[in-house]
Amino acid sequence: MQFDYRIPSGYETCGAAVESPMKMNGLPMSVYAPETVGCVVVDREGRCAAATSTGGLMNKMIGRIGDSPLIGAGTYACNLAGVSCTGEGEAIIRGTLAREVSAVMEYKGLGLQEAVDFVIKNRLDEGYAGLIAVSSKGEVAYGFNCNGMFRGCASEDGFMEVGIWE
Ligand code: ASP
Repeated sequence: MQFDYRIPSGYETCGAAVESPMKMNGLPMSVYAPETVGCVVVDREGRCAAATSTGGLMNKMIGRIGDSPLIGAGTYACNLAGVSCTGEGEAIIRGTLAREVSAVMEYKGLGLQEAVDFVIKNRLDEGYAGLIAVSSKGEVAYGFNCNGMFRGCASEDGFMEVGIWE
């Protein structure tokens, strides 16, 4: 039998009175540890950086590393783009999601949002996940194959935006 680490074991007896109806990546919010923060930035010289902090998924196997610290999977930055992912780490790792965004920009000549859309559509197999990205040209993009993804954006001219749904 394969243990599904995404489903809290004994959840119904853990004393939580009411389950929140909110879902992220198709899973109840309670499955996620609370610390997930991904950040991508680009400076005025076009230098991109990415960072991802996560508590992983609730009930994860002992020793599970997840995608967030794996450069190229959950986090990646190069001279073209910076990318940070969230969602089911196993699917993100299988698709080397973060690296793929800059790879298709480099090899297919796609723009940032096109590259994000391509990767979300073609490189995620059965998993639910999303990502945020910036390009060295200062573009901002995001994508996900699930109901919603908490995100925000700020630029030096004072523009600010937050979103959950598409
Ligand atoms: N990607 C993380 C993991 O699978 C979860 C998250 O922070 O979105 O460990």
